[in-house]
Amino acid sequence: MSTNHPADLRSRVLAFMNSYVYPNEELFYEQFRTYGSNAYLPILDELKSRAKAQGLWNFFLPGLSGDDPGTPLSNLEYAPISEELGKVAFAPEVFNCSAPDTGNMEILSRYAQDTIRLRWLLPLLEGEVRSAFSMTEPDAASSDATNIGLRIDRHGDTYVLNGRKWFTSNALYERCRVLIVMGKTDPLAPRHLQQSMIVVPKDTPGISFERDPKIFGYTERGGHPEIVYKDVEVPADHLLGDEGSGFAIAQARLGPGRIHHCMRTIGLAERALGLLIERALTRVTFGTSLAHKGLVQDWIAESRVEIDMARSYVLRAAQLMDTVGSQEAATEIAGIKVAVPRMALAVIDRAIQVHGAAGLTQYTPLAEMYAQTRTLRLADGPDEVHKMTIARREIRRHDSSFHITPPMQQIGTP
Ligand SMILES: Cc1cc2nc3c(=O)[nH]c(=O)nc-3n(C[C@H](O)[C@H](O)[C@H](O)COP(=O)(O)OP(=O)(O)OC[C@H]3O[C@@H](n4cnc5c(N)ncnc54)[C@H](O)[C@@H]3O)c2cc1C
Repeated sequence: MSTNHPADLRSRVLAFMNSYVYPNEELFYEQFRTYGSNAYLPILDELKSRAKAQGLWNFFLPGLSGDDPGTPLSNLEYAPISEELGKVAFAPEVFNCSAPDTGNMEILSRYAQDTIRLRWLLPLLEGEVRSAFSMTEPDAASSDATNIGLRIDRHGDTYVLNGRKWFTSNALYERCRVLIVMGKTDPLAPRHLQQSMIVVPKDTPGISFERDPKIFGYTERGGHPEIVYKDVEVPADHLLGDEGSGFAIAQARLGPGRIHHCMRTIGLAERALGLLIERALTRVTFGTSLAHKGLVQDWIAESRVEIDMARSYVLRAAQLMDTVGSQEAATEIAGIKVAVPRMALAVIDRAIQVHGAAGLTQYTPLAEMYAQTRTLRLADGPDEVHKMTIARREIRRHDSSFHITPPMQQIGTP
């Protein structure tokens, strides 16, 4: 009998991946080419309905309430499941666990007023609509979020937005219906109290889309578009939390967003190692298979050690988040955000090398995996900013008077 015990759920997710996700990977990319990068694909609807019907849904939200669809898991419980989802680019969406919706649902559940929760959180939890997070600006060094310039001005019962964003991932998706936008409500307030976040329905007049940057030449699903907000007016109850709380909400959103990226990236590295080994077993040079070469064995061993070390680090961060909270686990969260993409890039790079020229093509998932993982050294804050966080906290352990400015991490795709 199947249960919602985390170990059982993982086996059920694994079985689902083997029965329905891996066998449909090719079809997914075929439909992607046929319908285009911003259309909803029939295979996704089919897989989502199937996963939801089996109760394999919304695992990512520890605070999920009893009436909501899905199974609330702690971060530690979710980690092995999320790792499986990370092995296929579209799998998180099948189980309604994909970025940036997860981070957005998290903050809507914690900071939105009841009317807004009803209007947007419920359809997101049901997987009926999708969302985007709009903070980075082309004209501001957005890794320091105090630099952002979009204005959110109060006019009577409404707020009016004016400014320009880009890298609002997912916003071009046909089913993306709502944006969470960060901007300044009071530029004269203390640095960390100037920003607020607000919920903006995507069809609000005044929103227009401009460039859609490609990533290493890839057109990503839903895009990362540049968006102009011109006199965009939304009711005042769309503000999340209080005026000036944008920075604090951003910090709350970042912990789970970052660790989910890392959990998935461990899975992606595992898949790359699997591909490396399969190829090494079948490719013969100078009389033996590549699997017999000491150099390739060294790569395999290094990869195994590095993946397992990174996984332990992620699990430790997850456990800390569950027990002492994201704030206390800030060093570990920043640490995994630096360590895991770096580790995965090394593993994927070895796998590409073992595949020879084929590794660079569209005929294996490796090239896309590399591009996808490289973005994580920037999205959700560049490595350097995370290292700044780690170093400052570390120094403080030696000198408690050392001043720690709250890190200005950017919020990217969570
Ligand atoms: C694929 C992808 C998806 C994204 N999705 C989203 C999204 O959905 N929503 C969103 O709002 N944003 C998103 N982003 C944007 C991302 O979060 C920002 O690009 C990132 O935070 C860096 O901001 P920036 O590009 O303005 O770089 P800048 O702030 O200009 O920084 C440039 C470089 O300066 C260096 N630097 C910065 N601070 C320090 C320091 N203290 N010490 C040393 N060096 C430093 C770093 O090397 C950094 O890369 C996404 C980005 C990518 C690549």
